[in-house]
Amino acid sequence: MRNKRFLSFSALTAAFSLCLSGCAGSQEASVQEHTAELFAMGTYMNFTAYGEQADAALDEAVSHVEEWESLWSVTDENSEIYAANHSHGRPVPLSTETENLLRFALEMSGQTQGALDPTIYPLVSAWGFIDQEYRIPSDEEIQELLSLTGYEKVALENHAVTLPEGMQLDLGAAGKGYTGELLADHLKEQGVTSALLDIGGNIQMVGPKPDGTKWRLGIRNPFEDGSFGTLEAQDCAVVTSGGYERYFTGGDGTTYWHILDPATGRPADSDLASVTIIGDSGVLCDALSTAIFVMGLEEGIQCWETYGGFDMLLMTLDGEIYLTEGIEENFTPEEEFSEQTIHVMEA
Ligand code: AMP
Ligand code: MG
Repeated sequence: MRNKRFLSFSALTAAFSLCLSGCAGSQEASVQEHTAELFAMGTYMNFTAYGEQADAALDEAVSHVEEWESLWSVTDENSEIYAANHSHGRPVPLSTETENLLRFALEMSGQTQGALDPTIYPLVSAWGFIDQEYRIPSDEEIQELLSLTGYEKVALENHAVTLPEGMQLDLGAAGKGYTGELLADHLKEQGVTSALLDIGGNIQMVGPKPDGTKWRLGIRNPFEDGSFGTLEAQDCAVVTSGGYERYFTGGDGTTYWHILDPATGRPADSDLASVTIIGDSGVLCDALSTAIFVMGLEEGIQCWETYGGFDMLLMTLDGEIYLTEGIEENFTPEEEFSEQTIHVMEA
């Protein structure tokens, strides 16, 4: 079970922010720490890397992020995704990065039976999650816009994408994870052996901390400020999706969040409050955190049992914690959750 892999995609790659605790830890005095911060892809990014090569490597990392944002932005009129979204059925050539990310997102859409769907953009936009002009679309409008979605209608061939008239893409559910994965590869190529990249709550690590111990990540409590536990990890991605990241409260008193169920066109209404996926591939973790948030507990567990190749840490709306056996030893709940049964999922 455990060695099954999601698809055969190569090692391609949100959340209300994961809060980090003790990440910088106690490095040896001789190891230089370098940091970079930027706002891109609609979120704050914070990079920390160690060693002599880190300074120049981080400068390049920032340039890469700016470059990928300019390819994938839904609002930048010069981006490839903007061009695709205004192509009126004509093919739009794609860069290798965009093609890889879109191909992966489409494959994952198939594997998650459409829980992930990069064609959900018209609905994300109608609910106001792009321009922050939040509104509740009518049933009629939702039905009409749903006819403009469906990942299986996207044609990706000859390094170009063709969308039927009116359809639009949003790579927001997997783009930050892919960014983390590509940046980790870049840092490793530059000789960096220890780094922590916080991409708006998507965490990507290169190696362990400089002192050789694991990074300690606080996993955000979806119900209030602070974390519900600490996860120790190294050289992998840890990606969280949850409703608390972006949401609004409607006139009816209901909370509407930014992760939509492509089957209904409405905010996902599962029994999960937060989904954290841990794995080698940042893009896989990001795609799955969104998809499993939509699927809910039972289907999410089935997905893990079927494919494996990743670990997960789930918080239900009832405040129950579920985790896979691979991370049992690495997770410590906060005091207020320590009395509670932690459900361990075994393959
Ligand atoms: P994440 O924060 O990674 O869970 O991704 C959420 C973002 O992906 C949202 O802000 C939307 O832009 C987009 N999105 C929302 N629901 C879906 C979905 N079911 N499939 C694909 N993208 C989605
Ligand atoms: Mg995601």
